[in-house]
Amino acid sequence: MIVISGLQFKTIMFFIFASYYSNMKLKLFIIALLTSPIMAVAQKAGPERDWTNAVLWQQYSGEYRALAFQAYNFAKLSLKEALWENQNGKPNCVIVDADETIIDNSRFQGYEIKNGVSYVPAHWTAWTSKVMADTVPGALSFLKFAASKNVETFYVTNRDAADRAATMENLKKLGFPYVDEAHLLTKTTTSDKQERRNKILEKYNVLLLCGDNLSDFSNVFYREGKDTKQQVDAHQQLFGTKFIVLPNPMYGDWEKLLYKEGKFNEEEKAKQRLDKLKSY
Ligand SMILES: [Mg+2]
Repeated sequence: MIVISGLQFKTIMFFIFASYYSNMKLKLFIIALLTSPIMAVAQKAGPERDWTNAVLWQQYSGEYRALAFQAYNFAKLSLKEALWENQNGKPNCVIVDADETIIDNSRFQGYEIKNGVSYVPAHWTAWTSKVMADTVPGALSFLKFAASKNVETFYVTNRDAADRAATMENLKKLGFPYVDEAHLLTKTTTSDKQERRNKILEKYNVLLLCGDNLSDFSNVFYREGKDTKQQVDAHQQLFGTKFIVLPNPMYGDWEKLLYKEGKFNEEEKAKQRLDKLKSY
């Protein structure tokens, strides 16, 4: 769809009049002027364009790195405090998510944008099997610090069985501690992580959790049909202490809030996003 503002319309009309009486050069200029908005819109077409800025922000901004460091600096402080205060006789551990919490998949997102798609499962498997995801800033240092205090790490991720071997290889290659069969909990029959968290809680004292998605901490935020913002407010004391949140501008359960009225294809999702956009 081409949207032309009132000022643009008047400008175009002025040049149309002018061209009626003028020379060929001016006519060519007017044609260029008339076609330029069409070209601009044509280049922007496609829902995949929506998160280009989000991916670029993760890949290039200093703020992304700073926020990741900030999160893990808080994690370190909280861990030290919890080691003093929260002992229950069980061995200590932290629970971390993988994608966008300790490893960066923005190159996969970049690949999907360049290929004009939003998410193709086969592309995801191809990406994970390349074992080239890099660390999220601060993550490795924090988990090594935890290991130095005999705090184990459990990796609770919704990567599935098909990605398991490559994921383990990737985490080992980057030097993350406790990467073994017992500590890597990939997706089972459900993407709901509560069951896996409960299993860990049976045997371990969980000092804190790290994630880029609120469902990495608890089901109350997105999975129980409650008001997300109200739940975040109700749990505000836990953020930066027990729940360490990493920035992920690219994807997450928050998107479910935009599409919860039904199942949509990419084109419909793009329309939903525009419809949901708050303006004034
Ligand atoms: Mg994640």
